Amino acid sequence: MSIDLQSYSQLLVCPACQSKLVVDVQSFVCRGEACRRRYEVKDDIPVMLSDEALLTASDEWAAIIQRATPDAP
Ligand SMILES: [Zn+2]
Repeated sequence: MSIDLQSYSQLLVCPACQSKLVVDVQSFVCRGEACRRRYEVKDDIPVMLSDEALLTASDEWAAIIQRATPDAP
């Protein structure tokens, strides 16, 4: 069974900064620009640990957010 990442992203927040998350392939990315953490989904389980999160580069993050939220400025 595959989980619906989009549904999860509505329920979860970033454990580091409590911002909302967007889905990027098999991961969640924090919407907080100062935070920019990426949380991976391993075996259908989101790994929501700030210690295990990867930081995205600011240009990469901006592209992810733009893709995920086309209405945002
Ligand atoms: Zn965050």
